[in-house]
Amino acid sequence: MVESYSVIKSMKEYADKENVPIMSEDGINYLVKYISKNNVQKVLEIGTAIGYSAILMALTNENIEVTTIERDEKRYLEAVKNVKKVGLEKRINLIYNDASDVVLNEKYDLIFIDAAKAQNIRFFEKFEKNLNHDGTIITDNLNFHGLVSKKEEEIASKNLKALIRKIKNYIVFLKSNKNYDTDFLDIGDGLAVSKKKNK
Ligand code: SAM
Repeated sequence: MVESYSVIKSMKEYADKENVPIMSEDGINYLVKYISKNNVQKVLEIGTAIGYSAILMALTNENIEVTTIERDEKRYLEAVKNVKKVGLEKRINLIYNDASDVVLNEKYDLIFIDAAKAQNIRFFEKFEKNLNHDGTIITDNLNFHGLVSKKEEEIASKNLKALIRKIKNYIVFLKSNKNYDTDFLDIGDGLAVSKKKNK
């Protein structure tokens, strides 16, 4: 097993070189603190990329188990390598598939949605049945590099406009969802922390 710090450093370099979007430092620091503070033990992540956030979450403490889903083969294989390097194969379960086609029966304390931003509502609705009664769903990139707060006419590309509209719809969806209390945090690229209400 290679020392975790050097693996994480080389993952960041790889992500930078290969244009793989990984969580910002502020974002991952928040996530890791959230896990420690709230005694999270089981995490489901939608969007592994090369395993950066999954590994950092699992390193928070030795009881944490992470299940993470990635549809891109190259990234998935890179994640498999990285997880092996840090010796976390027993605690990180890597699934190579489109999250839309994955059916899970287990329950998780935390679901972290960090996949295709246009599909946030779909993944929230699909996987909330896997959330423990007092669990939390955290979603990344709610600011989408500052574009969500811009006026539509300021965004040139049609595709980007459509994507920003979907992120805005997701924000409305979270705000109006009576089963969760959602905090919107200006951390990293914008995090939504949706705590399930205990009824
Ligand atoms: N959570 C990772 C981290 O911080 O290290 C970064 C994830 S990256 C922002 C999003 C990833 O989600 C991409 O690698 C992409 O291929 C994957 N993805 C997008 N849509 C997906 C889907 N429908 N099912 C599975 N993976 C998906």
